[in-house]
Amino acid sequence: MEKEQKKADRITFFDIDKLSRKYMKDNEEEVTNNNQRMLKTISIIYFVVIICYNIIVPVFFNEWGVNYIYQIALIVHIVVLAVILLRYRKTTRSSREVQIVSAAFQLYVMAFLVIVSVVPFDNGQPAVYFAPIAMGFAVVFIYSFKTAVILGIIESACLILTTVIVKPDVLFINVFSTILSLVVAIYLIYVVYSNRAKESKHRKKLRKMGQIDKLTNIYNRAATEMMSQEYIQANRNTKYALMIIDIDEFKSVNDTYGHQTGDMVIQNVAKIIEEAAGPRNIAGRMGGDEFMIFIKSWDKQEDIKEIAAQVLRNAQKIEMPDDRVSVSCSIGVCALGEDEWMEYDDMFSCADKALYYIKENGKNCCAFYSKE
Ligand code: GH3
Ligand code: MG
Repeated sequence: MEKEQKKADRITFFDIDKLSRKYMKDNEEEVTNNNQRMLKTISIIYFVVIICYNIIVPVFFNEWGVNYIYQIALIVHIVVLAVILLRYRKTTRSSREVQIVSAAFQLYVMAFLVIVSVVPFDNGQPAVYFAPIAMGFAVVFIYSFKTAVILGIIESACLILTTVIVKPDVLFINVFSTILSLVVAIYLIYVVYSNRAKESKHRKKLRKMGQIDKLTNIYNRAATEMMSQEYIQANRNTKYALMIIDIDEFKSVNDTYGHQTGDMVIQNVAKIIEEAAGPRNIAGRMGGDEFMIFIKSWDKQEDIKEIAAQVLRNAQKIEMPDDRVSVSCSIGVCALGEDEWMEYDDMFSCADKALYYIKENGKNCCAFYSKE
C-alpha cells in the first residue's frame, strides 16, 4: 500500500518541466521575489570573483596576472551591481522586468567570458570555472526546466568552442572545468525544479482532497482549522497567535466593479496573506472576504505586528480599475503567551472580537484582543 503511494508520488524527469511551469505560474510573485534575491546574490558573487582576479590573484599567485579586460569588467560591474542593488532593494518588481534583467545579466556574464577567452593573453581561462555555475544559477529562476538545461548546455558548448578556436593549448583544462561545472549546475537546476514540481503536485493532491480553496489556491477553512488545531494540541507550551483578516467594504468592490473584479481582489489578498505568513505559518481563506493566518510561534509582539503591517500595506497597493474604491483590510489578533492556553475555537472568537472592534473603530488597522 505504502509502496504504491510512494510510486504515485514519484515525479519523473518528464513531469518536472510541466509541474514546475505550473508552479511558476501559480506562484508568480514568490518566484519573482526569489529571482530578485538571486539576481542580487549572483551579482555580488560575481563581483567578488572579479575582485579576486583584479587584486587577490595577481598579488598572491603572480602566474595569472591581470589584464585590462578584468579592470574594465570591474568598473562595468560596479555600475551593474549598484543598479541591481538599488533597483531590487525591497519592493517586488514586475515578473517580466525581473526575467528580462536576469536574462540580460546572464548574457553580460557570458559576453565577458567569451571576450576573456578570445583575447590572446595567457591569463583569463580560470574564469571558465565559474561560468556555467553562475549561469546555471541565473537560469534556474527564469526559464522552464527544459529551457534551463538546454541553455546551460549551449552556453558550455560556446565556451568550449571558443577555446578550441582561440586557445587550443588550454583545451583540456577548459573542457574539464566546463563539464564539471555544467554537471553541478544541472544538478542544482534539477534540485530546485523537482522541489517546485513536488510542491505543485502536493497542492494538486490537497485540492483533490478538498483542502485547497478553488478561487485563491490557498488552504480552505477546513484545512486551516485542522492544521491549526493539530498544532495547538501538539505544542501546548509555544507562544502562538491567530490572526483574522477581513477586507473592508468589500461589498462596494463587488457593487462598483462587478463580481469578477471582486474575485480578482480576493485572489490578490490571498497571495498577500500567504506571502506575509511565510512558509512556516498557516494561511487560509475562511470564506467570502475573510482570511486567517495561524502564527506558529512568536517572540515579541512586534513580530506579529510586522506580519499585520505587511498585509495592510500590500492590500492598499492592489490596483483597481479606477479610484472610486480602494482596497484595505482590518485585522484582529489573538496572541497567546507561553503560560496561556486556549482551544482553537476560543482563540478564533477572541480574534473575531478584536476584528469587530477595529471594524467599529475606523477599519484599515490591526487590533490585539485583550480581556478589557
Ligand atoms: P466590512 O468592512 O464590514 O467587512 O464590510 P464588507 O462589505 O466587506 O462586508 P462583508 O465582509 O460582510 O462582505 C462580504 C461580501 O463578500 C459579501 C459577499 O457578497 C462577498 N463575497 C463573498 N464571497 C465572494 C466571492 O467569492 N467573490 C466575490 N466577488 N464576492 C464575494
Ligand atoms: Mg469585509
